[in-house]
This record gives sequence, C-alpha cells and structure tokens, in this order.
Amino acid sequence: MAKFIFVTGGVVSSLGKGIAASSIGLLLKSRGLHVVNQKFDPYLNVDPGTMNPYQHGEVFVTDDGAETDLDLGHYERFTGINTSRNCNYTSGQIYDTIIKKERRGDYLGGTVQVVPHVTTEICNSIRSVVTPQIDVVISEIGGTVGDIESLPYLEALRQFRIQEGRNNVLFIHVTLIPYLHKAGEVKTKPTQHSVGRLREIGIIPDILICRTEKHLDKDVRKKISLFCNVDEEAVIESMDMPNIYEVPLDYAAQELDSVIIDVLGLRASRRNLKPWREYAERVLNADKEVKIAIVGKYSELPDAYKSIHEALNHAAVFHNARVNIISISAEEIEKSGAETVLKNIGAILVPGGFGSRGTEGKIAAIQFARENDVPFLGICLGMHMAVIEFARNVLKLADANSTEINPKTSHPVIHLMEEQKKVLNLGASMRLGAYPCALKKGTLAYKGYAKEIISERHRHRYEFNNDYRDCFEKGGMIISGQSPDGILVEMIELQDHPWFIASQFHPEFKSRPIDPHPLFRDFLGISLKLNGYDTKESRLTK
Ligand code: GLN
Repeated sequence: MAKFIFVTGGVVSSLGKGIAASSIGLLLKSRGLHVVNQKFDPYLNVDPGTMNPYQHGEVFVTDDGAETDLDLGHYERFTGINTSRNCNYTSGQIYDTIIKKERRGDYLGGTVQVVPHVTTEICNSIRSVVTPQIDVVISEIGGTVGDIESLPYLEALRQFRIQEGRNNVLFIHVTLIPYLHKAGEVKTKPTQHSVGRLREIGIIPDILICRTEKHLDKDVRKKISLFCNVDEEAVIESMDMPNIYEVPLDYAAQELDSVIIDVLGLRASRRNLKPWREYAERVLNADKEVKIAIVGKYSELPDAYKSIHEALNHAAVFHNARVNIISISAEEIEKSGAETVLKNIGAILVPGGFGSRGTEGKIAAIQFARENDVPFLGICLGMHMAVIEFARNVLKLADANSTEINPKTSHPVIHLMEEQKKVLNLGASMRLGAYPCALKKGTLAYKGYAKEIISERHRHRYEFNNDYRDCFEKGGMIISGQSPDGILVEMIELQDHPWFIASQFHPEFKSRPIDPHPLFRDFLGISLKLNGYDTKESRLTK
C-alpha cells in the first residue's frame, strides 16, 4: 500500500520546495523504494502552457504530452523517473473538472462547494498517481502556507490523513530561519508562526526543512523542536549548496530519509548515492571551462530555459568541465551585430520560442556560427531559424521564412503541415510529448545517440516544409532524423562544419545529471576540443 508525503512551504516563496521534494524522492529511491513525485499549483490557469515564461519560467513537457510546471523537470532529473500528466495539477484544472461534472449533472442538483467537492477532487488527484508498484507518493503543494489559494489544499490534506490513516501520511514543511546580521542571530519566530498556521488548519508537520544561511546549532534545533512540536532529529538544516545535486547528500548526512522511513514504517534497503557523490566531486574538480551563448528571448530570466541550463551543466560535468552560460538577447544581436556580441564565445545555442520577437537576431547568430565553424545547437524554434538562415544565405531564397513569422513569405520553408494535421488529428494545435525519430546512419546525430530509433519530447506547431527537402539536401544540409514514416523532419545537420545540429524536439527535457543527453554531451565535447582542451570520454558510474 502506498504511503504519502506532503511538502508545504512557509514564511516566503522561492525556498526551493521543488528541490527539496526531488531530493526526498531521490533519497527514498536510493533506499530501494518506488516513488512518484507530484506537484499542485494553486493558480487558476488550467496549465502553464499559455503562461508567460517571465512569470512562470520554463514549461516542462512530459512524455505523455502534458505542459507542466518546471519543478517536474527537477523531479525527473533527481529521481530519473519520468513524470506524467497526473504529476501536475493546478487549481484551474481541479475546478475545470468539477465544473464539467456539474454541467453534466453529476452532482444531481446538490450544491457544489469547496468543501467537500474541491477537497475531494484534490484527494482524487493525489490518488491518481498510485499504482500497485508505488511505495511512496511525494506531493508538493505550491505557494506558501497562509495564502488564500493554498487553503483548499491544506484542508484536503487534513482530510486525506484521516482517510489513509495517520501512519501512512507524513507532512514536511520547508521553512525559512532568517539570520539577522545586526543581532548576529538566527530567528525561529517566522517558522513558529508558519507551523502555527498549519496547526490551526489541523496539520502538524512531522519534519521541518529549515532553509538558513547559518548553521543551526544544537540550541536552535532544540528550540525549533520544542516550539514547533517536531522531534529534534526531524529538524533538518538546509543551507545553499554549491550545486543543487548536493542537496540530497546534505539531507542524507542528516538522515532525513531514515526519519521518513521510521515515521512511515517503511521497509527499505541501504542507501546508495555513489553516482551523486561522484557528480559533486566532479563539479568541484572541473579543470576546464567553455563559454556558451544562449541566444534567446527571455535572456534576463534563467528559469525560462531551466532544463537547457541543467542539461549544459550535466554535459560539462561529464567532461570534467564548467560551463559559463552567457545569456544573450536576440534583440541585442539585431542592434549591435553578431560579430560584436558573439566574439569570444565557444559555442552557440538557440533555444525554443514562440512569435517573431528577436528572430532576425537568432538568424544572424546562426549565420555567425555556420560561417565561423562555431559549434551550434538549435532547439525547436532554433531549428526553424537554422533552416531559414540556410535557405536565405546558402540556397539564396531571399525572403525565406516560417509562416509563423511571415505568413506571406514566398519561401515558407517552415509551415503548418496538412500531413501533420492528419497524422495527429489535432488540427493546428501543438505536437506535444514524446515521438519516435529515426536517425540516419553515418550522421553526427547517429554517432551521438548510437542507435537508430530514439524518442524525444516535442512542443510545437510548425514543421519543416517537405517541398524544400531536395533543395536543402542538394545544398549540403543533412536531414539526420525524421519520423519513422519519413513525413516529419526531426533533425538537421551540416556537412562542412565541425558540429552544427538542430532538432525539432527538445532534448533538454531528457538530460539527467548522471546520464547527460548525447546531444548536449557532444555539443560540449566539441566546444571544449575546439577551445584546445583534451576531452577523453569519462563516464560517470550509473
Ligand atoms: N513556435 C514554434 C512552433 O510552434 C516553435 C516552438 C518551440 O520552439 N517550442 O512550432
């Protein structure tokens, strides 16, 4: 029977609840348990698919095609377990389900209310991830305790504990212990108040994860334990770590997993975190560095390209290197020119995106990469831009474009496909989630993946226009990956270039710290090599 862990946050937002929940998932997995991580977002948008990355950061896409919160990316990277649609619910989605039921008459004329209808729907959503194999469900509740939006969730969790039995449900509260520089002291009062708010609702946390910039000494731990009513060993100190993948190691040193296993009465094996220790050591021992430019639209906000940053770091660590990621606004390139902005850059990455802002700057960056033998990785819109650049500057199709950007272009090299609409039966809506792709032997892509059929995640509407295939291939562009039926172009690369690859899919979603993605691994590898470093392959033990 599955047991349940709920992770709430207190005092302030941005405490890293997602990393905490992911680390707990990893620790329990490393003790031989089958876990699933899940996130509830208390906002009313049905999913983050249409939300502005400035507000929400990246949209993470699951294998089954759900557009989700970026914390799901952390869950996958830490636990190595693929998430699914059921792993992310928003209040909008919960209400949408209830309102549809109400319209269908499912409530038989009854009054539909937050308690019990919304709370019941929340409880059902928690159970939706349970399968006979699952030992522990870890559900993170977005927002901060005390927010109006979070209340129905907390009420649902209180009910849930009664339904499942007290010994089967555990509450972890991630909280802040601020340090007052003037007083020279850490302060426990905000945490006491936050725990007090939870108790008012009927939830007593079993474990506190205390985010702090100073070590918590024995007396402080004692005080927190006494005033917040948790055991002393259940007061976990959580300081900022040099890299996020050290957080589980820090928790393990404080036996967080053992406390969880004891409270829930789980049967677990001995912990194995060897690859994670190795990863942390490699981060410290990196002996080379490469500068990589991400030429995008949301350059001020690293969270907008979270999985790309992570994938670059995983690949760098694989090569015992550090990556210095330079975020460049595509509009800056439009203003100052690619040569000026991109000089001294080791490699160029153009990420996914929507709309026309900055596209000419991206095209100029790609031309610079192509003409100067700078390693290039294009992702989704980045592939569209690479195709357009090649069409305009190599094939001399002067106003070539994507119909997303210029519907009237005389050379729509990227467009909405009739065939695609038929295959997907989705009209012009997005191609979302994992699709197979067949790689062409002898290409860089094939060499990297070392297999013929791969599976990668998509999030886009526009596709390569097959009317131009011959023309591109004759001009020297290689179609290195396509859908197994040969209809959709999935990957392209260039013949006379050290490393120039673009993909219609998003490889960043599948990179893991101890299993870096082959495209990012090779992109980093060639960039280091061209910068004069020796990059003998050095695998991490899995
Ligand atoms: N805007 C493009 C499309 O819809 C690319 C999307 C993306 O980069 N994820 O096809």
